[in-house]
Amino acid sequence: MKTIASLSLDLDNKWSYMKTHGDAGWDSFPSYLEIVVPRVLAFLKERNLKITFFIVGQDAAIENNRSAIASIAAAGHEIGNHSFNHEPWLHLYTKAELTEEFEKTESAIENVTGKRTVGFRGPGYSLSPTVLEVLAERGYEYDCSTLPTYIAPLARAYYFFKSPTMTDEEREKRKKLFGKLSDGFQSLKPRMINVAGRDMAEIPVTTFPIIKTPIHLSYLLYLSTFSRSAALAYWRVALAMCRATGVQPSLLLHPLDFLSGKDAPELKFFPGMNMTASEKLAFVSEALAIYTKHFDVVTMREHADLIRNSSVATEPQTQAVR
Ligand SMILES: [Zn+2]
Repeated sequence: MKTIASLSLDLDNKWSYMKTHGDAGWDSFPSYLEIVVPRVLAFLKERNLKITFFIVGQDAAIENNRSAIASIAAAGHEIGNHSFNHEPWLHLYTKAELTEEFEKTESAIENVTGKRTVGFRGPGYSLSPTVLEVLAERGYEYDCSTLPTYIAPLARAYYFFKSPTMTDEEREKRKKLFGKLSDGFQSLKPRMINVAGRDMAEIPVTTFPIIKTPIHLSYLLYLSTFSRSAALAYWRVALAMCRATGVQPSLLLHPLDFLSGKDAPELKFFPGMNMTASEKLAFVSEALAIYTKHFDVVTMREHADLIRNSSVATEPQTQAVR
């Protein structure tokens, strides 16, 4: 039997990238969902894959996005909670602010899809003990907000370098965007954690075992702009290392893995946006073919269920939190 692995997509919309980047105009919530959602759904259907889409509550609350978001649930994919405001400093929110944030997201998503979310991924991998506590109280089955990596400070430097117009206050908020160096010492293994007396699955976004460099699709695409074959070799070795170290991987996709600079001119500054959409799709297709060859690919909720059913020990809450 093949090892279990999961696949998810954070449905970050155009405005959320502009917001994090500090660009004007984000607050009218410009969207590319009507372009990217049909493209991704067709791609997944061709490969017979069911995955988890993490949806931003604000998007579900906008009338124009309704049909795109409803079509994801109608196609049988799981819908997860990706916060309401997509603020990567979510871990600084108070408990009352978090409760409001979750209530708004859950009801906006349920309104459009008829589904209640049971899984959460924080925007920008933001997580705090209070976030976990609120998730546990609200009956969530899993969290997948951790990104065990040592290179976060470099990613942060990239953002600052690219945003010369950002104010000091904005800069301060974004300082914690990509975590601290200690995030790299977190385990890569999906596991059960106990939060406020409730068991929840914690499924980290998988990074390269031991060296903990990123292996999500956007990073692979970025590497492919230097050498396609080297990027695929890196991916193959990462997955072989997962098997060798007993890590059930969880791979993460983003809308920009399916979009070109032509589809979203405002986001041309992102790495890999000079590739055409068909070049990107061909690469994603090849990377996923390698993934499904070696692993049984399931949704995040199914992955969480399997961890729960096979788990003997539950780790204390502190293990999961930065
Ligand atoms: Zn996001």
